[in-house]
Amino acid sequence: MTPHTPRFTDSHCHLAEDDLFFRLPEILAEAKRAGVCRFAVPAVRRRDWDRVCQLARLPETALAALGLHPWFVHAPDDLADLDDYLRREPALWVGETGLDFHRAATAAERDTQTQLFAAQLDLAQQHRRPIILHQVRAAEAVFRQIRRTGFTQGGIAHAFSGSLETEQILLKQGFKIGIGMLLLNPNAKKLHRTAAALPPSALLLETDSPFMLHGQINTPANVRRVAEALARLRGCTLAEIAAQTEANFNEIST
Ligand SMILES: [Zn+2]
Repeated sequence: MTPHTPRFTDSHCHLAEDDLFFRLPEILAEAKRAGVCRFAVPAVRRRDWDRVCQLARLPETALAALGLHPWFVHAPDDLADLDDYLRREPALWVGETGLDFHRAATAAERDTQTQLFAAQLDLAQQHRRPIILHQVRAAEAVFRQIRRTGFTQGGIAHAFSGSLETEQILLKQGFKIGIGMLLLNPNAKKLHRTAAALPPSALLLETDSPFMLHGQINTPANVRRVAEALARLRGCTLAEIAAQTEANFNEIST
């Protein structure tokens, strides 16, 4: 990295996953060469939390979160444990949490996800923590739970998927929007149009590593490719994307 390399933050990478955690020095060095120098690290299940707490102490980790992801089955005690962890870790956010109705085939599955999400919104509000939000085909239900629980802490809406209307409501609720690997799909025309139309103050970059590259391990260095694609779509320079997304990340993380 030269002094002129733009600097980036991966606002969503699962460094606690085995594929990254056991190769961390190599992963961080590769990212740094691409200018990706800071990380936000969410959890997906209870067994990640000790690793995430450990990762939170790295100088490169700008933000870390503890939560229960809607794709997984969680134990009844996990929510009480989350409360304890949040009390012990005053800097950590809640996440990732949310609703994914693409992965919920029945009303019962949607109910289970909704209860888990609402409980985490309550905890986040009690502890005054922002959240890392996962939302797929469930925007209305997410907004309903935010209203119902009185959650006001905002956070990061990760995995931007292209509805400008949804993203504008999220912005009003105090969320920034994580733009990731989906942007690299040349056929994602609607997504490209929306990413070009979002206000500059909304934008964050992410990879969702090690996921999102079918059959391959995704790594935070790829944030740079997302930034390059976003710069092309928005007709600005890579340095401008870097400066804007860094300022946005600083605004919510400090
Ligand atoms: Zn994730």
